[in-house]
Amino acid sequence: MFQQMLFQMRLQAKMDTYPTSKMEGLDYCNSCGICCWRRPCSFTPEDLKRVSEHMGMTESEFFKKYLAIDSPDGKKLYMIATRKDQEDLLAKYIPSDRTFDIDTPCVFLDEKENQCKIHEVKPKEGKAFECWVDQKPYDDPDKYVTEEYLRALGWDGNKYWDEE
Ligand code: SF4
Ligand code: SF4
Repeated sequence: MFQQMLFQMRLQAKMDTYPTSKMEGLDYCNSCGICCWRRPCSFTPEDLKRVSEHMGMTESEFFKKYLAIDSPDGKKLYMIATRKDQEDLLAKYIPSDRTFDIDTPCVFLDEKENQCKIHEVKPKEGKAFECWVDQKPYDDPDKYVTEEYLRALGWDGNKYWDEE
């Protein structure tokens, strides 16, 4: 609870400096970058294929260099871009307390320009998000993958929730 409150306070401080389009009453993206601080994009298998090809990497190389694993319930698994200070979580499952790391944004955010470095091939979630539109929380069924799929990419299979 304390972590969540701290997370919201730090996010609010960022929004005070970089107001979102919704806050400014705009109906287009003003490239404030806040959504990329709030929560990095999830990756569907199709996103992984497209973005890794764009970067000239294999899917496994890309997974190990940029992605981690998250879950809404400890069972349904999906891939998510890491934050810039989360090298220790690469290709691993994100423990719940690390969801509130907000000292750095998504690894793909160019902080100088507040632009996504993979904008032209960005994940489906990043394309779908429009903060000025009232949307249901994003939960794309296409993003969920099996343990076997993740192990083939290089996941060690360690489930942090088993240790809690
Ligand atoms: S979609 Fe994201 S980057 Fe664009 S204005 Fe909204 S919060 Fe900012
Ligand atoms: S992948 Fe791009 S759009 Fe998605 S959170 Fe990262 S920087 Fe933002």
